[in-house]
Amino acid sequence: MKIIMLGAPGAGKGTQAKKIAAKYEIPHISTGDIFRANIKNGTELGKKAKTYMDQGLLVPDELVVDLVVDRLNQDDCKKGFVLDGFPRTIPQAEALTEALQSLGQSMDFAIDVNVPDQNIINRMSGRRACVGCGATYHIVYAPTKTEGICDHCGGELILRDDDKPETVENRLKVYHEQTQPLIDYYTKAGILHTVDGTVDIEDVFKAVTDILGA
Ligand code: ADP
Ligand code: ADP
Ligand code: ZN
Repeated sequence: MKIIMLGAPGAGKGTQAKKIAAKYEIPHISTGDIFRANIKNGTELGKKAKTYMDQGLLVPDELVVDLVVDRLNQDDCKKGFVLDGFPRTIPQAEALTEALQSLGQSMDFAIDVNVPDQNIINRMSGRRACVGCGATYHIVYAPTKTEGICDHCGGELILRDDDKPETVENRLKVYHEQTQPLIDYYTKAGILHTVDGTVDIEDVFKAVTDILGA
């Protein structure tokens, strides 16, 4: 099963992608997580990506596409995968289609998690990320058992730099200009499904599994 998660920043793509990965036993591939790991490890890629991420801009396509294609060629992706945060531009989507085509494959599902802009700022200002393992929480909607401490690894929780309201506004603008056209792209490909992302996490997941099948 090969799945793409679409949606605005903060729509809940990562939250749902993790649940899909666990239920269907396929890898969760988040380009945002890959970039943040590179930043943490001080790699060249991390240094380059950070300058864009800090401004709420997309990292250039040429820094993203090869990275994802290499990842998809690893053995654990043979039975499928869930992509979270990629593709984010039409050229990225075209590169993905071509890379799969050369292997005689294609994507099965593109799931758009639909959340209006007015809900997004709220979502992002309450999002907390673990510095240790990258787990994601929300101070109101997905709280940890102990405030400020990761349930999984005991790590410290932080507000991501790019989740501050002034950067979120930029990211939303970039989303509408560069990523939203993918909805049309995957509608034409015949694989787009939309779920209401404003309901509870478990209810969104129910809608997702109805689409994917048991
Ligand atoms: P969110 O969870 O809010 O959707 P991500 O963690 O997916 O954000 O991405 C954080 C940042 O990493 C983006 O704002 C962008 O700068 C960069 N990024 C992640 N994925 C991509 C991609 N496919 N193309 C370009 N930039 C990306
Ligand atoms: P994305 O990967 O699309 O940027 P996340 O999965 O990180 O989004 O979710 C953004 C924030 O909203 C997180 O703090 C998360 O815990 C919270 N969240 C996710 N889904 C829901 C939901 N259905 N209702 C309320 N809050 C949610
Ligand atoms: Zn953790």
